[in-house]
This record gives sequence, C-alpha cells and structure tokens, in this order.
Amino acid sequence: MAFVDHMNYANAAGNVYCCLRNKVVSLDDAQLKTYCQGCKMFRGAEPGKSVQCYWNDSRDVSDPHIVYEPQLEFKSMQKRKLRISPPADAAESETA
Ligand code: SF4
Repeated sequence: MAFVDHMNYANAAGNVYCCLRNKVVSLDDAQLKTYCQGCKMFRGAEPGKSVQCYWNDSRDVSDPHIVYEPQLEFKSMQKRKLRISPPADAAESETA
C-alpha cells in the first residue's frame, strides 16, 4: 500500500467518488463543509470541479490517481474490498 494523491474530477452531473463515505456524492457546498473540511484525507478542492484526497491505497494505481468517472472508481473500490476480505465460508472449509 502507498499514500497516493487522488484527483477526483466532477463528472457531468457534478459527482465525485468520496472515500470517506464510500459512495458517489455531489461535490457541492454541503459535501465540502460537512465532510471534506473535517476529513484527514482532504488536500484541497475547487468547488464544483474537483477534490484532492490523500490516502493509503491498496490498489495498483498511479500517483497522482486521476479520476473522471466516479462510478468506475466506486466499483474499483468495492472489488478491492472483496479481494482483501476472506470468503465467508473460509473458516468452515479450513476445519472441514
Ligand atoms: S476529502 Fe474526504 S470527505 Fe472529501 S471527498 Fe475526499 S475522502 Fe471524501
């Protein structure tokens, strides 16, 4: 894992992927004031255009990691979580 700058550009609908909330959100004043300003990953923003988030990413991504499609980023993050989570039946099969 490595700490990576994530440059999240708003799509045509004004949405970005938010790691803190693990969802696609509208990059509006409410997001910036309620979440980004108190977020330890926050490294700056252009309201309505982009937000820069710095965090330890287990995926094999470039630095900076540029994101234009928040839905694809969301899906990529869910796959990452599946990879690091053991299968639900792993403990059962080990003891069988
Ligand atoms: S700075 Fe934090 S709250 Fe704001 S978009 Fe990035 S991860 Fe989400």
